[in-house]
Amino acid sequence: MKIAPGKIGFDFDCVVADTMEAFIRLASEDHGLEISPEEITDFMVAKCLAIDLEIIDEIFARLVRDPLGEGLQPMADAIMVLEELAAEAPLTFITARPDLRPVAAWLEHHLGSTSFARLRLVATGDHDNKGPHIKALGLTHFVDDRAGTCRALAGEEGITPIVYEQPWNFGKHDLNSVVNWVDIKKICG
Ligand SMILES: [Mg+2]
Repeated sequence: MKIAPGKIGFDFDCVVADTMEAFIRLASEDHGLEISPEEITDFMVAKCLAIDLEIIDEIFARLVRDPLGEGLQPMADAIMVLEELAAEAPLTFITARPDLRPVAAWLEHHLGSTSFARLRLVATGDHDNKGPHIKALGLTHFVDDRAGTCRALAGEEGITPIVYEQPWNFGKHDLNSVVNWVDIKKICG
């Protein structure tokens, strides 16, 4: 599988940004809760962690509102690979977040200004409607960590989903997957 850099798009949380690291860190620092990544076996973390839903919602709300201020970090090698891809074609990100501005600020901070000026960013506000955006943006491949999103995209003509492996999607699909950004670099070229 070799994918042209301009034909692949990326989910934001838990693909480009290490949202679960930030969640675990904030839960520890501000609520004294110790969570290991392996415990997060469901995309809906309330289903797998014995933590008050209010606390979970509060932490995610902070990460949605101000990812830069809360110290949300890129996934390992993500920025290096994205910069390489950006030299070939504009980058495309499609997030289910409702507000694209905080994501744009985060991307502008982490990517070079040239890459940022050309990139395309969509905030759908819905985990289940990425397909039409992927098609409208002329993409053929999309990387996402949510198994349900990838399974649904697999049923759409002209879209090949790629699962970014995380504990919460393990064993929940039979699709192509990547384990890190070095993998993504290998399949793009
Ligand atoms: Mg995600």
